[in-house]
Amino acid sequence: MQFIQTRGNDNTRPKSVSFSEAILNPSASFGGLYVPESLPDMGIVFLSEYLNSDYKHLAFDLLQKFEIDIDDDLLWEALDRYDHFDDSNNPVPVVKIEEDAWVSELYHGPTRAFKDMALQPFGVILSALAQRREEEYLIMAATSGDTGPATLETFKNKPNIRVACLYPDGGTSDVQRLQMVTEEAENLKVVGIHGNFDDAQQALKSLLGSEEFKQELSEKGIQLSAANSVNFGRIIFQIIYHIHSYLELVRRGEIGLGDEAYLVVPSGNFGNALGAYYAKKSGLPIRKILIASNANNILTDLINTGVYDIRDRKLILTESPAMDILKSSNVERVLFDKFGAERTREMMEALNDELVYHLTEAELKSLQEDFAAIENTDAEGEAVIAEYAARGYLMDPHTATCLKAYRSLREEPLPTLMCSTAEWTKFSPTVARAIGLDVEGDEAALAAVSQTLNAPIPRQIQALFEKGIAHGTVVEKTQIKQEMLAFL
Ligand SMILES: *Cc1c(COP(=O)(O)O)cnc(C)c1O
Repeated sequence: MQFIQTRGNDNTRPKSVSFSEAILNPSASFGGLYVPESLPDMGIVFLSEYLNSDYKHLAFDLLQKFEIDIDDDLLWEALDRYDHFDDSNNPVPVVKIEEDAWVSELYHGPTRAFKDMALQPFGVILSALAQRREEEYLIMAATSGDTGPATLETFKNKPNIRVACLYPDGGTSDVQRLQMVTEEAENLKVVGIHGNFDDAQQALKSLLGSEEFKQELSEKGIQLSAANSVNFGRIIFQIIYHIHSYLELVRRGEIGLGDEAYLVVPSGNFGNALGAYYAKKSGLPIRKILIASNANNILTDLINTGVYDIRDRKLILTESPAMDILKSSNVERVLFDKFGAERTREMMEALNDELVYHLTEAELKSLQEDFAAIENTDAEGEAVIAEYAARGYLMDPHTATCLKAYRSLREEPLPTLMCSTAEWTKFSPTVARAIGLDVEGDEAALAAVSQTLNAPIPRQIQALFEKGIAHGTVVEKTQIKQEMLAFL
């Protein structure tokens, strides 16, 4: 299958490209994104064949259906990364928490957030492709805390790929920072900056725009790629688990094959929700995708009013930092799918130039056929954490935003699958506060929550506090270029 571009073609690039081209060089014409030309049919017939299949076989055949130009051996090598998740037979356990609601636990990989679901196999594929082409790639990431660790973890010691990661010093949890600064490998560079996530992102942007930096890259023969969810190589792996979790409910006899369900997704950059949308469009019986936002309610506004407006907005720091975002990249792929390239380009240019775009009434109606959305305050999230902790189920503050959507957005009491995007151990100070424990810092919070609720701390998290610091650098924004040039 070929991949086409959300904002049309500018005649300087091919009209369509292969999967491997789209993931190595993910920036498309007019600043757009790559999307598959069409979606495979994964309706009832497909689903019924996979009722007894394990995760990796489902994933393999689903990826085959996209006819991607990755050979079988490499695909299996990539999927074998799931063998290192907590349960090597099932990377995504589905846990019942209500009579008609289940949690799809997407965090059982090495960095304890759902980013591993895609980045683990993606890292194997990207590095192998770069090696075969004898090309060198640099991946630059600004992170608010989950993308950074997952990107470093998947690419450490991988040939032909270097990763440079910027994080806001003091803007991540201790666990997230330690996951980055203890990651020791020749091909990784981690730099803290004085400032917030916005500053880190801006520093990255200005670096990528700097002629001196581009010059240096081309002299060294290094090309830029990306590992965030603008890269379709991330999205394709985020379709699979939605299908897996639905099948899991059928297997257990909780629902019948073909029964409709709701899916709830705590959203930031909309990559996870986009995977759900593609699954629904391919035939998974999903009534609607319910989007949970935090105080940065840009997605909730879009889905409820048809207006995406960031003119008077400032990023608000919340207890669900991975959802603190104003420009949500993957909405663009939904707009393209529904309204085509010309209209998508028009709206994305309006967002760029005027910081706002408007859907027509008909377009809004179309969006609402697939999505509904609601926002959460931090206090509501903490109340949910406390409520379920008391009943024996621990969840992180991102997962907690799902419950309000489940309780208030369903038009009918259909079975509901909620995405759990991180383990509580990544956000233990918030979880400790929610259940009424008074402690400072991650290490104390982990111990206190673990002891109070008899909850295990996984070895990946426990070990962080004993590891040596490999990247101690914290600099001013203005010093980043120098640091990066030295790394290259
Ligand atoms: C990245 C992340 C999200 C947001 O996912 P998107 O695909 O960007 O919408 C939500 N929760 C956690 C814990 C995350 O790490």
